[in-house]
Amino acid sequence: MILDCHTHLAPPRPEAVVCASPAGFVPAGGQLYSLGIHPWRPEEATEENFGLLARLAGMPEVAAIGEAGVDQLRGGPMYRQMLAFRRQIEISEAAGKPLVVHDVKAHDSVAGLRRDYAPVQPWILHGFRAKPTVAKMMLQASDGFWFSFGEKFNPDALRAVPRERILAETDESALDIRQIIARLSEALGEDLTETIAANSARVFATAHRAADSR
Ligand SMILES: [Zn+2]
Repeated sequence: MILDCHTHLAPPRPEAVVCASPAGFVPAGGQLYSLGIHPWRPEEATEENFGLLARLAGMPEVAAIGEAGVDQLRGGPMYRQMLAFRRQIEISEAAGKPLVVHDVKAHDSVAGLRRDYAPVQPWILHGFRAKPTVAKMMLQASDGFWFSFGEKFNPDALRAVPRERILAETDESALDIRQIIARLSEALGEDLTETIAANSARVFATAHRAADSR
């Protein structure tokens, strides 16, 4: 059962999708991963790594592409970040696997790219801590956005997101995923464990099917 859709903590994490870079990727048995080139690491945005990512994306252990995205406060120059993000949008679509999106003060760019590409795959807005107005703006822009909440979140934004689009994550938190889900549950006034487990199973369905059919 997957509860944690995004973590940088080391495997084994049987309830998590572990985020890793394509360069030097060696999967641990039974672990699910998201593979991508982070906007904070522009030096990894090379043709070689995009090619590698496109090949690794077909592995059943790879449940998602990312994290990938745009960060206005940190990382490489904006044009390079956008280029790397676009490449990973295309890899996500070609592989048929969802995209874990890093969006820091770049909501307009992310929503605009979603509209332009009209991708089939879900985009998981990871570490969502923006205001409810931003959540509503993203929901209006596309029904393909999912919202992953971690240790820091805006309770009003959590309440603004439909139940079927709520995910949870540890990212780099010292709290474990069940403690984070307990906080989210408290903010909503209902236990979200089952909701998050069901949503995670749906959003990563392609990878699960691929792993089952092996
Ligand atoms: Zn992260």
